[in-house]
Amino acid sequence: MSIASIGEIIWVLGIVAWYVIRYPFERRARRVQVTRNARTLTDRMGLGIAFFGLAIVPGFYVATGIPKSADYNPYAFAIVLGAVTMLLALWVFRRSHKELGRNWSITLEIREKHKLVSSGPYAFVRHPMYTSFLLIALGQAFLLANWVAGLAGLVGFSILFFLRVTKEERMMLENFGPEYRDYMERTKRLIPYLY
Ligand code: SAH
Repeated sequence: MSIASIGEIIWVLGIVAWYVIRYPFERRARRVQVTRNARTLTDRMGLGIAFFGLAIVPGFYVATGIPKSADYNPYAFAIVLGAVTMLLALWVFRRSHKELGRNWSITLEIREKHKLVSSGPYAFVRHPMYTSFLLIALGQAFLLANWVAGLAGLVGFSILFFLRVTKEERMMLENFGPEYRDYMERTKRLIPYLY
């Protein structure tokens, strides 16, 4: 088996594991009442673009090998790095879902009895779930030896992140006031100690 195929298989396994972690939260989220909704068209577009870059483009590449002209020779070292990044992403993803619990939403919403979570991974960064998306996008870049399919995830993630993060923090500030302001002062956005 070629190094490139190993990278592709690890990427597929990572995406499947991602969905297995996510699914129970999506089901539960349907049962918790939403009291405030910032589900705008821009936010939905961002979600669509992120999904396109993190799933459709690489999925299509793994299935068909298109666009072949963007392939490059893979390094075994990049595959190992990609696998480690993917595992770290899944771990952060699972930890932050567990910590956010019933307050989780795919878009920007405030739910009934919404609590501000500031424990677990939320003690370090305000958006650990987005941190895990960034790690998944990095994993994709290391695992797929193709410029387009590899980098599509980082592009999709960045668009969603910058469309959403300011609005999300504004929504949280409006809802939690000084409690969120204090929390902002104690934490970084995405990368512990850095940003
Ligand atoms: N940005 C967070 C959460 C993503 S899920 C992360 O990356 O981990 C999006 C929903 O989570 C939003 O609708 C918002 O209501 C909720 N949320 C975001 N931060 C939160 C926090 N610290 N405590 C409780 N809910 C939060």
